[in-house]
Amino acid sequence: MTRRTEENAGLLFVLSGPSGVGKGAVCRELLAGNPRLRLSVSVTTREPRRGEAEGKSYYFRSRAEFETMVQDGLLLEWAEVYGHFYGTPRLPVQDILAGGGDVLLEIDIQGALKVREALPGCILIFVAPPSEAVVRERLAGRGSETPEVMARRLACLGEEMGFLPRYDYAVVNDTVARAAAQVGAIMSAEHLRASRYRGWRAGNGKRGDTADDERTAP
Ligand code: 5GP
Repeated sequence: MTRRTEENAGLLFVLSGPSGVGKGAVCRELLAGNPRLRLSVSVTTREPRRGEAEGKSYYFRSRAEFETMVQDGLLLEWAEVYGHFYGTPRLPVQDILAGGGDVLLEIDIQGALKVREALPGCILIFVAPPSEAVVRERLAGRGSETPEVMARRLACLGEEMGFLPRYDYAVVNDTVARAAAQVGAIMSAEHLRASRYRGWRAGNGKRGDTADDERTAP
């Protein structure tokens, strides 16, 4: 039983930050602990890495196919990241939100700022690394990046950190569990914003449609 509030409306959470910061691991932890949350699967023109599955990690498409999707207006946002194109399919996001589910986007900073323009109600969460050394280690640990790609990604790090003040929240990914717990707390708090509360019905002397003070955590 829930009160008549907008807690039940879906929210769009955008998790982004510098490459190599461990956003993917934080997302996996969040998704495992929150059945209401759905990950938006992006389209990309880059080659699949080992273990990545079509439709789960990404939709892997040619550059021509990607350009057609852009022209047809099928992407909510798209960006070129380190020489490859990445984009968020628009329809699945709209459908999940309309159905009351929360959507999680794990995208780069340019994309996050474009989503804010398109859908100002979205919640932007910046995931920051504890230090440059940690990013270096994480990128090296993947074993899939060439030295040139690694150098390029590290060179961008300082610039990317400069976008942090444009976000709603900042979380340091020192451990995945802690960062995911903090993002989870942000998600709960966003659902409980006073501006989303619709329980009060003036005139009947009651709050909401239940006698108790029950709330359903998102
Ligand atoms: P990777 O190739 O390592 O999976 O991702 C490279 C970067 O692209 C990451 O920062 C990731 O968050 C970002 N990215 C993944 N999907 C999208 C997307 O749909 N849109 C944008 N703008 N960036 C994305």
